[in-house]
Amino acid sequence: MKRGTSRDIRTANRYEVLRQIIAESPTSRQELAAATGLSLATVATLVGELLDLGMIIEVGFEDSAGGRPRGLVAVNASGGALIGVDIAETYVHVELFDLALNVLARAEEDMRPGESRPEQVVGHVAAAVGSVVAQAGVEGARVLGVGVSVPGQVDRDTGVAEYAPNWDWHDVPLLDLLTEHIAYPLHLDNPLRACAVAELWFGAARGRGDAVVVNLGTGVGAGLVLGGGLHRGVSNSAGEWGHTTLVLDGRLCHCGNHGCVETYVGAPGIMLNLRELSPGSALLHPEDQTATVDALARGVAAGDPVAVKVVRDTARYLGAGIADLVNLLNPEVVVLSSWVAATLGEPLLAEVREAMARHALRRPLTATEIVLSPIPTDPVCLGAATFALEGALRPVGPQRKKAQPVRRTTTPARSRTAPPS
Ligand SMILES: [Zn+2]
Repeated sequence: MKRGTSRDIRTANRYEVLRQIIAESPTSRQELAAATGLSLATVATLVGELLDLGMIIEVGFEDSAGGRPRGLVAVNASGGALIGVDIAETYVHVELFDLALNVLARAEEDMRPGESRPEQVVGHVAAAVGSVVAQAGVEGARVLGVGVSVPGQVDRDTGVAEYAPNWDWHDVPLLDLLTEHIAYPLHLDNPLRACAVAELWFGAARGRGDAVVVNLGTGVGAGLVLGGGLHRGVSNSAGEWGHTTLVLDGRLCHCGNHGCVETYVGAPGIMLNLRELSPGSALLHPEDQTATVDALARGVAAGDPVAVKVVRDTARYLGAGIADLVNLLNPEVVVLSSWVAATLGEPLLAEVREAMARHALRRPLTATEIVLSPIPTDPVCLGAATFALEGALRPVGPQRKKAQPVRRTTTPARSRTAPPS
């Protein structure tokens, strides 16, 4: 594990002060000191640096009770642009934000089944990034960076997608491949982290110390906010709850194990729940997860008993899995995020609440609220953009480490990327 240098701490403090200014503009140095726990002198220095960078501006004064008027600062929305990229199994979403993290442009590319070779994915990302920059009409020089979220385990330092079970990717040097098409600074992480940060800054985890952001898409995982900050684990791999065992000797998972949570509540798992219940159902769109989940949502709304049963069955698995997280982590809030949660919405949430109540211990359960993500845009793009912002605040120094050449072998090159046996 890397030890924090004084430069890392300075960058982290700068980021924390800017995060507070973005969340609470306009604000004073005194309020920033109170919110961050930093000294007023440190805050004043950091605010000066952010003013020099053009990321924030002075916006006047407020009266303080009896004392000298306090100078107010606010984020300089036009002081730069950030791009967030959400690479999922079935689509690529890209959004371009101003510095206040308002969306200025978005682009979407669909990925058909089987279209998951790295060069195909890179092509979609490059096209969509070009599209948002053109739509927003921003000069390239104003783009401070691009945050890229890709499913699975990633090495943030080298920009390598180490292991994406749904695509069978092993050690793909994704950022090096993207660098051939995209000239802006690139920063890699995964959707669990991106969703968690989005909720922490703008969503249901705002102001909460401990939160779990359950990401329900093709893949499944849990972004963890512990003690007010993002929890990454020692190798940036925390939150792989989708690959914890829910059913002993259960369904085969892409990771090589059996009975993983993901195989029951991820979109392909939900399709299997439907197929097992009603093999010939008109709700089932073979090979099309999005169409099937959409059909289930419409079916529930129309009172279709098969759709209602599938959502209930899915919620039973999900509720049992989330109860484990509640017993283990005792969070203030559990947020259901990503496209499956957004599509199935309140009916899924109501069933999950009931199932959780059957499995979680009463005391932690009563302390936990469970909600749908309130973020109206793609939370993964938003979170990915914050990674670009964090990267832009790093002092100029060594660039991203060059990814090691990929050994094209049939077995994973490094043991830590191998599927669990
Ligand atoms: Zn698995």
